[in-house]
Amino acid sequence: RVFLDHNATTPLRPAARAAMLDVLAASGNASSVHADGRAARGVVEAARTAVARLVGAPSAAIVFTSGATEANALVLHPDLEIAGQNQACDVLVTSAVEHPSVLRGHRFPIAQVESIPVDADGRLVLDALEQVLAGHAAAGRRALVSLMLANNETGVIQPVTAASALAHAHGAVMHCDAVQAPGRMSLDMATLGVDFLTISSHKIGGPQGAGALVAAHPHSRPRVPLIAGGGQERGLRAGTENVAAIAGFGAAAVICAAQGGEEAGRLRGLRDRLEKEIVERFQGSQVAGAGVERLPNTTSVIFAGLKAETLVIALDLAHVSVSAGSACSSGKVGPSHVLAAMGVGDAAAGGAIRLSLGWSSCDEDVDVAIAALGRVVPRLLNRPVRAA
Ligand code: PLP
Repeated sequence: RVFLDHNATTPLRPAARAAMLDVLAASGNASSVHADGRAARGVVEAARTAVARLVGAPSAAIVFTSGATEANALVLHPDLEIAGQNQACDVLVTSAVEHPSVLRGHRFPIAQVESIPVDADGRLVLDALEQVLAGHAAAGRRALVSLMLANNETGVIQPVTAASALAHAHGAVMHCDAVQAPGRMSLDMATLGVDFLTISSHKIGGPQGAGALVAAHPHSRPRVPLIAGGGQERGLRAGTENVAAIAGFGAAAVICAAQGGEEAGRLRGLRDRLEKEIVERFQGSQVAGAGVERLPNTTSVIFAGLKAETLVIALDLAHVSVSAGSACSSGKVGPSHVLAAMGVGDAAAGGAIRLSLGWSSCDEDVDVAIAALGRVVPRLLNRPVRAA
């Protein structure tokens, strides 16, 4: 099979699998004081160091969670501490194209949430953000801004560094959901200038069920736990750590951190070939966000006159896995909120599929996908395809 759905989840990297199997063969609880417990604690702390290195943060500032959804819910709360100072936030300012775990998973009263629009290419309108932040600052309200680094459906990269500068100039706190970025673009918290960052294990070749909230400062934290209990993870996410998943996350983080730009270049080559073939062969097909900087592994293609669900099933039967819009929201009927925010009409958005590549993708995958599309799309459209 050809798996072109790395933005939904990545296949487990062999090194992550090996790290997990080692842990599964052991028996310690990371909170126990005996040797077995200390061994488990060692695994968790080594993974913490690896994840910290991946994003350029102090390891003391990392809270392991069950994934990015939990990390987003943990941080998107009005009561925060920034560099040791309590900072109560009155309003959550976010963008129209965020992941549902931000849009629906935050812990603010709904009346205190504001959404900033994006342009036709899916990039945040910075002037609108500045206006909103200036308004809140003038009224004495502190904002928490949450802006994703790269969109999971289109791959469009947001101007997070500029947004952080605006946020801080207006006394706001800045959070970034960077789930889709590691291994695909450079990622450094200091460069982004954010106070908090979210990442997820299963988008970087680690297992599902682990993620992290990262703070830029060891004394920055949400003040209200997501899960209260035994005090694990700085008292913010109680419960016995999933040591095996965290070990796999750490192993994947080590590989991503070591990759530099080479892997991103390889992915860009594959993605560009795929995209070029599609646009040239299928009349009326169109790439969302084509005019702006995007992740090198992602393409969201709108096929005129097709229903994405039908195309996804037909490709599945041809042994090619892709998503209609976002995998996280597939299963739900209705067009993508991301494409809608970019001004794409319902009919066109209904024909959008996302192809996303990753560490396991190769030239042959692209060949197979193109051949499958060449068979399937004309059949669904019931008209001949242009010769390649
Ligand atoms: N944020 C973004 C941008 C995502 O793409 C996803 C998953 O698709 C999430 C958050 C949620 O991540 P998790 O599955 O680790 O909860």
